[in-house]
Amino acid sequence: MDFILNDEQKMIADTARRIGEDFGLEYWRELDANKSFPAEIWQAICDAGLSAAALPQEYGGSGLGMLEVAIVVEALAASGAGSTVGQLFMNNTIFGGVSLSRFASDALKQAYLPKLASGEMLFCMALTEPNSGSNSLEIETNARRDGDGFRINGRKMWITGVPQAHKMLVIARTKRVDEVQRRTDGISMFLIDRDREGLSHTPIDKVGTNTLTSSMVYLDNVWAAPDEVIGTLDSGWRELLDVLNTERIVTTAGLVGTADLALRLAVDYANDRKVFRNVPIGTYQGIQFPMAQAYALNEAARLMNYKAATLYDNDMPYGAEANVGKLIAGEAAQLATDRAMQTMGGMGYAKESYVERLWRDARLFRIAPISEEMILNYIAQHNLKMPRSY
Ligand SMILES: Cc1cc2nc3c(=O)[nH]c(=O)nc-3n(C[C@H](O)[C@H](O)[C@H](O)COP(=O)(O)OP(=O)(O)OC[C@H]3O[C@@H](n4cnc5c(N)ncnc54)[C@H](O)[C@@H]3O)c2cc1C
Repeated sequence: MDFILNDEQKMIADTARRIGEDFGLEYWRELDANKSFPAEIWQAICDAGLSAAALPQEYGGSGLGMLEVAIVVEALAASGAGSTVGQLFMNNTIFGGVSLSRFASDALKQAYLPKLASGEMLFCMALTEPNSGSNSLEIETNARRDGDGFRINGRKMWITGVPQAHKMLVIARTKRVDEVQRRTDGISMFLIDRDREGLSHTPIDKVGTNTLTSSMVYLDNVWAAPDEVIGTLDSGWRELLDVLNTERIVTTAGLVGTADLALRLAVDYANDRKVFRNVPIGTYQGIQFPMAQAYALNEAARLMNYKAATLYDNDMPYGAEANVGKLIAGEAAQLATDRAMQTMGGMGYAKESYVERLWRDARLFRIAPISEEMILNYIAQHNLKMPRSY
């Protein structure tokens, strides 16, 4: 595996960094304060072809891979956006792009992927439910046959980007748990219109990631046409895992870029701020060491994420690497943003220093899209071959 970026990868990283810097930290601070969707930067990202880096060329993409997506997200996060920019890529590049390009019919690919690439069409994904939580196999949302199509009923929680989305990838049971041999059977993915009759949503007030609304979603007899099934009817679980694991790669990239940014802001501050003896506070090991620790952790997360992405791009198993990368990146970004705040003292708590948003936003990703505990469960069971504990 070669982790030296080639010229094309350096070029797309530069493009992403330039876009990120053009918008800058103040753009994100204002959107965060107003809880506004980052439409302008997303359009700029699409105009530069970056949202579609991994999509096939015949559908408006660049035919590159998940590694390039990770590089782009990292650069955007590091140049001002922070971790929430990863969610724009999760919603569109992953929930829309991976599900369609890997599992949809040619007709659906033709209809939607060029619009995803141009930014005309936005996506979101509805898996989590109030009752089942992390136990995704116990979802209660069901899709029952009605004529040649389906009627979907259920409730989803925390669904991000719903108000702006044109399409929602809904995960539903098409067979009840008691109708199948394995709990992983009987699950299907549907790509439906977000404004379809019977689908309603209400926002949830939350700590951070304010530029993207997260919502309760109610599905009340919502129609799905037969060609809106994405992947294999009743056997969508394995296919969904590709969507969820690539989501982790993008999450990690956003976190790695966030830690880069937080450390940069904190180092600049520490090298400038003088309190005692007329020397910068950055002279003290008490300030340096925690940041050096965060840096080291973040470098490990970056490498693990590149490994996960490279394995995915080579059609090799990558689930463990995607999970491990996300675990370490969550810790690294938490440490980096927290220490950045501490380094800045009272200014770290001020909105104008910018790190408080990075700190609030990064905290989410120790819980979502998969919690640290569920990753540790995965590692214990799959990598260490220990008994399943739950
Ligand atoms: C802001 C935000 C945005 C989100 N966006 C989306 C979205 O767009 N689409 C979507 O489908 N979902 C979304 N989610 C949902 C997210 O994926 C879940 O919140 C996450 O998977 C955890 O599920 P839960 O909140 O139900 O926690 P629970 O499953 O209730 O878990 C609660 C706690 O118990 C722990 N726990 C549970 N089971 C075990 C176990 N077996 N062993 C050890 N510990 C355990 C968990 O780790 C956690 O700490 C979002 C969530 C948030 C907060």
